[in-house]
This record gives sequence, structure tokens and C-alpha cells, in this order.
Amino acid sequence: MHNKLLTNYDRNRRHLTDDPSCPVCHNGVETISHVLRDCLIAKALWLKLLPLSDNARFFDLNFNDWMVGNLRNGSTAWENLDWRMLFGFTCWYIWTWRNKLVFNNSRVDGSSKPNIILHAVHACVAAFDALATVGEEDRFIWYDDPPSSASLLLFGDIVGVAHPRMIGS
Ligand SMILES: [Zn+2]
Repeated sequence: MHNKLLTNYDRNRRHLTDDPSCPVCHNGVETISHVLRDCLIAKALWLKLLPLSDNARFFDLNFNDWMVGNLRNGSTAWENLDWRMLFGFTCWYIWTWRNKLVFNNSRVDGSSKPNIILHAVHACVAAFDALATVGEEDRFIWYDDPPSSASLLLFGDIVGVAHPRMIGS
């Protein structure tokens, strides 16, 4: 994952930019942990999604412990959703929204973000439930369909699994 998301910190190390700072909040070096957790925009979103009791520890962990710990945390979160899925989708959306803002100057309203993420996770759960009831032939058709599979493939990529069907297993 360190090598997959090209932050300004990485660009600076590769001499692709002189400025390693965060282009969103201008409040620190844009490392991967800054983008996904510590950037003001990311932190505001996490604070809306986190169970209150977890707040302090969530922001104190080093990046690897944070990523692995959350992807292994099988507790339930909002609306009875699996925290691992909510966490993974939130990371993916934070990165996607960061890129839209940086490259397209397109901003998503912060108050609508939790609902967008919850909707995506519910859709994913429904898709997996549907997959469990269809045959192999139907699965190929479903996976080949670009609009429905694109975000799942990217989600699979971000959590480092070879195939999205492995999520949650
Ligand atoms: Zn920032």
C-alpha cells in the first residue's frame, strides 16, 4: 500500500515535486498516514464514523498497526455493518475524494460523506449476499460488468487482497 498511493511525500522523495506538504490542508507533510487518517478532512470524517470509545487509540497508532488492526477488527459498526468493510471503504473514499479535490478541484460536502460510504458498504454486502446464491457462470458475468465491479476491484486492491471475493473471509 505504501507503494501504491503516490503522495506528495513520495513525489518529493522521487524528485517529482519540491513541496512534500499536504495540498488539501497545508498542515504537514503528505504521507500516506496523513492522507488517510491525520489530514484535517480525513480526521473529521473518521470522527463521524468511529465509535466514541475508540477515538484516542485510533489516531495514536503507527500506520501499519493502524491499517492491519482495523482491517482485522471484526466488530460491528454503524447500522450493523462490519467495521473492516466500513474502514476499507472509508480509506478508499478518502483517497478518491482527495484526488478529486487536488486534480479536479472538485469538493464533496463533508456532511454527505458518511451516507455515501454507508450506502456503498450496504451495496457491497448486498452484492456478496447475492453472489453467495448464484453459480460460477453468473459470477463471471457480474465481475465483468465495469460499473458494478470497479469500486470493488479497487477496494480489493486497497486492502491488499488478490480478488474482491476474499474480503471479509
Ligand atoms: Zn492534509
